This record gives sequence, C-alpha cells and structure tokens, in this order.
Amino acid sequence: LTKRMKKSMEKNIKKSTLTDENIQETLREIRLALLEADVNVEVVKELISKIKEKTVGEYIQEGVTSHQQMLKIVHEELIDILGTEKAPLNLSKKPSVVMMVGLQGSGKTTSSSKLAHYLAKKEAKKPLLVGLDIYRPGAIDQLVELGNKNNIPVFEQGKQSPLKTAKQALEFAEKNGHDVVILDTAGRLQIDKDLMNELNDLRKITSPNETLLVVDGMIGQEIINVTNEFNNQLKLTGVIVTKLDGDARGGATLSIRYMTKLPIKFIGEGEGVSALAPFYPKRMADRILGMGDIETLFEKVVDNIDERSMQKTMKRMFMGQFDLEDLRNQLVQVSKMGNIGGIMKMMPNAKISDNQISDAQRKLVVFSILMDSMTLKERREPKLLKSLTRKNRIISGSGRTEKELNELINSFEKGKKQVLEMAKMMKSGRMPGMPG
Ligand code: GDP
Ligand code: MG
Repeated sequence: LTKRMKKSMEKNIKKSTLTDENIQETLREIRLALLEADVNVEVVKELISKIKEKTVGEYIQEGVTSHQQMLKIVHEELIDILGTEKAPLNLSKKPSVVMMVGLQGSGKTTSSSKLAHYLAKKEAKKPLLVGLDIYRPGAIDQLVELGNKNNIPVFEQGKQSPLKTAKQALEFAEKNGHDVVILDTAGRLQIDKDLMNELNDLRKITSPNETLLVVDGMIGQEIINVTNEFNNQLKLTGVIVTKLDGDARGGATLSIRYMTKLPIKFIGEGEGVSALAPFYPKRMADRILGMGDIETLFEKVVDNIDERSMQKTMKRMFMGQFDLEDLRNQLVQVSKMGNIGGIMKMMPNAKISDNQISDAQRKLVVFSILMDSMTLKERREPKLLKSLTRKNRIISGSGRTEKELNELINSFEKGKKQVLEMAKMMKSGRMPGMPG
C-alpha cells in the first residue's frame, strides 16, 4: 500500500509541478518567439537557461496548464528585465537639456520633433529644438520643417560650429522662457572619434539632464555594440528605440535592457509626429512573446475601457444617434488599449494579415489627428464638413490630406448607416443576425 501511495503521490507531484519534460515544448516555443522578435542571440541563450532554472520544480496553479504556468513565469521575467519602474525624463533644470545622439538615419531628427511635440502636448512644456547637424545635407532644413509643421520653434545658425550654436541656443531658451532644449546632433554611418569628440564637447558645454541614444530597432544584432559604444563614451541616461511600427515585435528593447541596463524611455512607432510612445514594460513583454492570449485581452479591456463613456455611446447608438464625437471617443478607447495589432491578433481565430493591421493602425492615428483638428460643433454635426472652407482648415491644421479626410467621412457615413440599421432592429425587437 505505501508503495502504491508513494507512486501515486509522485505522479501527482509530477502532474502539479513543472518538470524538465513538461516544459520542453513550451521552452522551444519561447525560444522561437524570442528569436522571431529579434532578441539578440546571446540574450536568448542566457534567458532560456535562466527560465529553465526558474521554472523546473515550480508548482502549477489549479486550473492552469503547465504551458500557461510557464508563460506566466516567462512573462514576469521579461517584465523584470524590461524594467518594473517607470523611467520618466529628468527635466529638473530650467531650462533642461535633452541631447539626442545616435548613428545617421537612426531617427534623431524625427524623434527630436516627436519628443518636443509630446512634451508640449502631454506635459505642457515649452520646448526649443536646436539643429546641430551641420554635416548631413538638408538635416537642419528637415528639423525646421518639422518644427514649423508642429508649432515648435527651432533654433539654428546654419553651418556655424555646433558648439557655438548650442551655447547661443541655451541663452535664447533662457531669454524666451523655453523650459526644455532638445539638441538634434549629428550622426555618422559608423561610430568614429571625431563624432564622439564633438558630442563630448557639446556635453561639457550644455551639461544635459538627459543624453538619449536614438537607435533603430530594426538594425538587428548590431544594436548591442552600438549602444555599448555610445554608452562608454557619453554616459547615456536612456534610449529611444525607433521604427517599432505596427507588427515589429520589439525584441531590441529586451536586448538593450538585458545587456546594458539602460532605461528605455520611449519607442518610435511610425514616421508621424505623434508616433512616439512612453515605454511600457508589460506591453512590450506581451508583444515580444506574441501572446495570443484572450485572458490578457480581457484584462486590457477591463482595465482601459471607460465603462461610462461606452454606455453613453451605446445608448446614443440605440437612439440612432452617432456622430464624429462618438467615433472619436471610441477611437480613444481603442487606442487606450495600446497596440491595435496586438489586440486584433489576440482575437481567437482571427485571420488578420499584418498588412491589414498596420493599415488599421495607420488609419486610427490619421483619423484621430483629423478629428483633433475639428471643432466640437463639427464633430457633433458632421454635415458641416460639406463646407470646403472647413475642410481646408481641417486639412491644413492637421497636416493630413484631402483624401484622408474624405476617407474618414466615408467610413463615418458607413458606420452611421450600420448603427441606424442596428437601432431599427433593436427597437423592433429583432437582434441583428437572429431570425426575425
Ligand atoms: P537621423 O539621421 O538620425 O536624424 O534620422 P531621421 O530622423 O532623419 O530619420 C531617418 C528616417 O527614418 C526618416 O525617413 C524617418 O522618417 C524614419 N523614421 C524615424 N523614426 C521612425 C519610426 O519610428 N518609424 C518609421 N517607420 N520610420 C521612422
Ligand atoms: Mg538628423
């Protein structure tokens, strides 16, 4: 009897803990997911052995499979690496200086203007952009253009020495009440001594609060060397990882955090000025694992949807009322849930192509920008948009095209028609899709 009891106990223990055998399959999947997400090969190796160590012998919670239990542990581990605490910008000085550094084409100029826009819009700052890239043809014009487009002043002195221009820019900022000065510095195709010397001199002159490396999230394995080099020479305070648009899985952020411990402060998710997002470790962990997990979706939905505003919209829909203000509220709710691609992919059995997702994502952003440029009255009474003067004002105010505005209006009309039909059916007691 004792023998039998022992055997069955052993069997039970095996069933209720993670073992070398029952983690194999999941471990393989995780390894693939990490590699697919473009996590550095060395990092993947170390992580996998760490995960193995951590999971074997772990108790499997009731109602959960070993696979799920393991994903949970891995998910937590990734969040741990990506950083559990927030990493806001240190903008304590007046004016504060943010110096953007990085290789050519990494996205410094774009990110500088995105950051200025972000700080102006979300933190009510009065930023000043400073053009210091005197080497790349057209670099300063590019910054000036971006600044003009988004109402951010740009300080530049043409081809004058960047050191001199930086000094003048700080004086200008003080005189004109700018509280954040963003330095868009020059890059090179490869790291070289001249570049580092210049950046170091700039650092001495401006004593930046933040020295942020801007790095292209799609450059692959090289990303670690680049980050280490810049960090050794310039004592970075953080990193902005760019080009993590749409379906990019963002493994670069994990590699950087794991290898350098530098905080990731923002990620760039597109070319537009609003396509800069603070870095959220949990969201990134989901994205890297590519979790098709309905539970996570559920959590997100409950977390983020503002129930009252949803109810209000539903009620209005039921009354057959639906205007652009309602549509805008809905888009805000959707964007609160984070990456729309992630959400679409979490739908069970969803067969949605990456193209469709990036298209939807793009539309979401474009539509939001357009609607931001409308007055409340126009959103409440979309028929006002038939006026050409209004249309033109919205187009130039938002920096979008007429085609995009028409697309928005058409989508809205289509949506409204559906809402009206639904309202009619609900009132007559028939639900859509049910036999009447
Ligand atoms: P810099 O040389 O470091 O100043 O790089 P730029 O800011 O000029 O950017 C180089 C190119 O990358 C430009 O075409 C940008 O539009 C593009 N770019 C920058 N950030 C992003 C991003 O987050 N997503 C995408 N898709 N493109 C980006
Ligand atoms: Mg540039």
